Amino acid sequence: MQHVIIGNGPAGVVGAETLRKNDPRSAITLLGDEAEPPYSRMALPYLMMGEIDEAGTYLRKGQDHYAKLGINLVRDRVEAVDVNARIVKLKGGANLAYDRLLVATGSHPIKPEIPGIDLPGVHPCWTMADARAIIARAAPGSRVLQIGAGFIGCIIMEALVSRGVRLTVVEMGDRMVPRMMTPVAGNMIRAWCERKGVQVHVKARVTNVRHATGGSDALVATLDTGGELAADLMIVAAGVRPNTDFLRGSGIVCETGVAVDATMQTNVPGVYAAGDVAAAVDFATGVRGMNAIQPNAVEQARVAALNMAGRHVESHGNMALNVLDTLGLVSSSFGKWWGEPGGGTAELIDAREFRYLCLQFGGDVMIGATAIGLTEHVGVLRGLIEGRVRLGPWKERLLQEPLRVVEAYLARAQAAA
Ligand SMILES: Cc1cc2nc3c(=O)[nH]c(=O)nc-3n(C[C@H](O)[C@H](O)[C@H](O)COP(=O)(O)OP(=O)(O)OC[C@H]3O[C@@H](n4cnc5c(N)ncnc54)[C@H](O)[C@@H]3O)c2cc1C
Repeated sequence: MQHVIIGNGPAGVVGAETLRKNDPRSAITLLGDEAEPPYSRMALPYLMMGEIDEAGTYLRKGQDHYAKLGINLVRDRVEAVDVNARIVKLKGGANLAYDRLLVATGSHPIKPEIPGIDLPGVHPCWTMADARAIIARAAPGSRVLQIGAGFIGCIIMEALVSRGVRLTVVEMGDRMVPRMMTPVAGNMIRAWCERKGVQVHVKARVTNVRHATGGSDALVATLDTGGELAADLMIVAAGVRPNTDFLRGSGIVCETGVAVDATMQTNVPGVYAAGDVAAAVDFATGVRGMNAIQPNAVEQARVAALNMAGRHVESHGNMALNVLDTLGLVSSSFGKWWGEPGGGTAELIDAREFRYLCLQFGGDVMIGATAIGLTEHVGVLRGLIEGRVRLGPWKERLLQEPLRVVEAYLARAQAAA
């Protein structure tokens, strides 16, 4: 059996290792197009903070880790897939035959259509090469303008601030992390950032980037709210899109990403997808979509690989499980955190102490939650939502006193177990 995996990020690596464990005699080829050994994007902020070196970002530390497992690590870019001939076509010119194929090509940062966005000094923060470029420009005292305050934008702020830069964030939504946090939570995170010395502009878009006059490297951004912001470095964190271009014309169905069923198989038998590139069914909504976080990537890869190895395993669906550390303020949102009509909402706001809890219900089941500064409750919230625990009389109690979630969990989930 020839297993080919396209993409050597966390999904590709976990897929290859799971295959090796469950299919000891198969041939496994792991393809990646970046220069570095397989590494974790999640580790890049720690590299930018100077807490680790580049080798510290590598997913597996032993130099011969892949060779020892009989995983053939190949550096090349896949340009096309022919599902009839069962081959992948490489940029280097070779064709690679497969019996089972895993597409784990991840996603890439969206480049907003802003005049001047390609000027030197404007970077996404996605690859090792981006991290190197940011480290080179983000000197103490330099002015950094970050476009976007979503998941990745918030995660990288800590690294930027720790480098001693003067940071300004421009977010087009009405609050920070608008696609992951309730209005109260998004505004609380904003207040926290401002308290830490970060300038935050919401409901604002950068409409143009140009060089400052006077021949320096500095840049100037124009905002649609009026005014201009000067910067030595601009970072674009405006969301991601799945890497599916090379599948065009292959017959593999792509929606928001590569469409997969519960076994992570695409519409083409023998072809699977996992990680940021995959559009899998969401646990909370039942709708297929992309959920670009690492825990989903590795879990999907595990499920895909087990099926490729001949087992039948189904995923119970992507779970929105967003845990975010923004300059030391930990926030989280789970499941259908925005709630549903008539379901019932409990909200506890402590703006002074930066503590917040919002619970969403559907019938007597908790379907989603948002929390700030309540890290000890994260496991319990996840357990209640993922377990679809019937709360019975505890729903009313939680509507009155949301902080009693631990008691509710012990009474309903633990007791049932
Ligand atoms: C700065 C930063 C911080 C993050 N922090 C967190 C966090 O705290 N928590 C969290 O859950 N997630 C975090 N993420 C997101 C997380 O890194 C991604 O969800 C994860 O990397 C997805 O893994 P993947 O294997 O699907 O894709 P990737 O890691 O993107 O790997 C895909 C690989 O495939 C390669 N590839 C693409 N196309 C081809 C092709 N045609 N041929 C060959 N190779 C190809 C790519 O170059 C890449 O190397 C962070 C991301 C960034 C950038």
